[in-house]
Amino acid sequence: PVLSYDLYKGFPRRKATKRPLRIVLLTREPNNYSSQRLKQVAEERGHVLEMVDTRRCYMAINATQPEVHYDGKALPQYDAVIPRIGASMTFYGMAVLRQFEMMGAYCLNSAQAIGASRDKLYAHQLLARHRLGMPATAFASSPKDTKDLISLAGNSAVVVKLLESTQGKGVVLAETNKAAESLVDAFRGLEANFLVQEFVKEAGGADIRCFVVGNKVVGAIKRQGADGEFRSNLHRGGSAHVVKLTPEERKVAIKATKVMGLSVAGVDLLRSDTGPKILEVNSSPGLEGIEKTSKKDVAAKMIEHIEIHAPIINTAIRTK
Ligand code: ADP
Repeated sequence: PVLSYDLYKGFPRRKATKRPLRIVLLTREPNNYSSQRLKQVAEERGHVLEMVDTRRCYMAINATQPEVHYDGKALPQYDAVIPRIGASMTFYGMAVLRQFEMMGAYCLNSAQAIGASRDKLYAHQLLARHRLGMPATAFASSPKDTKDLISLAGNSAVVVKLLESTQGKGVVLAETNKAAESLVDAFRGLEANFLVQEFVKEAGGADIRCFVVGNKVVGAIKRQGADGEFRSNLHRGGSAHVVKLTPEERKVAIKATKVMGLSVAGVDLLRSDTGPKILEVNSSPGLEGIEKTSKKDVAAKMIEHIEIHAPIINTAIRTK
């Protein structure tokens, strides 16, 4: 039985189960802050959490008994999977995750939803279709008319982004039309995939990270770019502070998570003159920045979400 993500859509309010769960954390970094916190909290709450390197999983595809193998052995049946799949592992990681889904495990973020959030063009289209605010954005594969493409993004200052960008590396500000044209022409020459976006100047080099679990924002921080830097990435010398969200920001973050089909997400917003504008919905948000800055126990919220939902999904699939 293949699990459709509809099963994850509504988050019924139920009491957390007291049954100990067997949880697997898919990660390539068992020692990082996020992995260690999830393990610690799961164990404190009486569960077993094993870490598995997604790359080392392999599997036979057959109709009778789906299995995942690891280091020469078949992995046991888990109650839940916490996927933490890096961008470079998306394709293979999704296949591994689908296999666990077929085995009847509850996945905190389904393969389908992770795939949707990783496909930046699709994600933008999906958010727009649900009328969620975002900076005016245009993308193209090989446009002849560079000027027209830039005009779609608002014709004043624009940000040009490589689709593969992480940590703000492929994000460039063009303050004039001329600069934007040269950038677009250069990126096109490299045959890179990129998008052109209205520059939200009034955000003042800051963005807001909302950490969503289920129907709730469980922590929020404001990241402020270093002096003279419009990118707020902490990797680029930005600093983080707690922030109080407006009701609208809260609503937008929760809705964005829902339309992507995710249960756990890091939603990045810009504060603009016309309300919150979504930059990205991240399906494997890190815990360190948000927990240390907001002082919220985000890992516990994630494990609690599993305690509520895993038993429902396990029963639904395994008795089919
Ligand atoms: P990455 O995924 O590489 O971090 P982002 O799209 O998140 O790339 O951009 C990096 C940072 O640049 C954001 O956190 C934000 O501070 C800033 N930024 C990105 N897009 C815009 C925009 N359209 N207007 C203003 N600032 C932006």
